[in-house]
Amino acid sequence: MIINSYSMGIGDRFGQQGKAQLGAIIKAKELGVEVTPVWNKSFREHSIIHTDPSDTRAEADAAVQALGWDGQYFVDADHVGLEIIDPFVPVSDFFTLDVADFIGEKAGNQQINAFVQKCQSCIGELLIPGIDDAFHITEELVRHIAEKYLYAVQEAGKIYRRVLTEKGVDAFVTEVSMDETDEPQSPVELFFILAAIADEGIPAQTIAPKFTGRFNKGVDYVGDIAQFSKEFEQDLAVIQFAVKEFPLPGNLKLSVHSGSDKFSIYAPIRRAIKKFNAGLHIKTAGTTWLEELIGLAEAGDDGLLLAKEVYRKAFYHFDELTKPYATVIDIDKSALPAPDDVDVWDGRQYAETLRHDQENAHYNLHFRQLLHVGYKVAAEMGERYLATLQRHEEIVAKHVTENIFERHLKKIFMDS
Ligand SMILES: [Zn+2]
Repeated sequence: MIINSYSMGIGDRFGQQGKAQLGAIIKAKELGVEVTPVWNKSFREHSIIHTDPSDTRAEADAAVQALGWDGQYFVDADHVGLEIIDPFVPVSDFFTLDVADFIGEKAGNQQINAFVQKCQSCIGELLIPGIDDAFHITEELVRHIAEKYLYAVQEAGKIYRRVLTEKGVDAFVTEVSMDETDEPQSPVELFFILAAIADEGIPAQTIAPKFTGRFNKGVDYVGDIAQFSKEFEQDLAVIQFAVKEFPLPGNLKLSVHSGSDKFSIYAPIRRAIKKFNAGLHIKTAGTTWLEELIGLAEAGDDGLLLAKEVYRKAFYHFDELTKPYATVIDIDKSALPAPDDVDVWDGRQYAETLRHDQENAHYNLHFRQLLHVGYKVAAEMGERYLATLQRHEEIVAKHVTENIFERHLKKIFMDS
């Protein structure tokens, strides 16, 4: 099973917007750009919302059937390890093997020595086509990288083989992710990580390293854009070289996690993938849920009241809601409006404060981030939330489609 060159992970917290999301993908295809939709939902989201992986599969299949989509699509077991993978296996056909927690754990000495031995031919000046300066590779460097990453790659191998046993060869797409960690991986580290992945026999088609800078959920990139661009291009060059040097799938591509809303790096990413004629998987951060709130606010009446109630509860449960996401959000509490003030807003002000439009004077990224992690509040409302959504389906769907198409697909894959 080979994933197309361009693909996008579309998270949908409540599983209600599959059609609206696919609508954006179809719009792009009508304009000549085919992007494969991948519905992803992590164990963390499933447990907060009380859904399970089969719900994601049902949503994806239903959307595809309703809109007559005849292109490729996948359901992603997002960020899985051995302890939580079981319910994902039968219903998923894309697996994000998350081994970030194992970075820094040391593999056995013999295995490290064997890896260093295998990499002897890379020691010295390593010239990678597409990168101007040669990398100076010493045995110490290779050993250091092996000590840091080899064990994590071996762990990915265990998860991969667990899926393989049940699903069979070529029945799924494999991603290896190392993004949920503090330290970014350099292009040189990526090269040796790929060597280890090939060694482990994992046919990874996408790889999610941790890039330089902060990828906070639902808001723009924070970091040195020039540095990011340079490393991103080097990563692409490394991948092109690695798939020739090692037994890895030729279509291996980068996967950018929490990739939604990173507007300031979309142009560099787009230029880089064009320059290297590379593919890209971009995972959005579940911001479709925020478009639901925007739609409800604009709908007015019961929709607006519900959106305000969500904010009030999120505000008063700040610590509980933000805790599981502490490393991927940056909220200044003093910049949050008081719920009593929000209560007197009209729908437009609520929508403008939340919508990620940096030109709008009302836009407040703290408000946005708190609501982003506040989906638990809506989950606890249960049927009441879902029924209100359904009553305002049309306006909500319009915002979901527009967000994915205008602010994401167009900017990442299409603008010239
Ligand atoms: Zn991730």
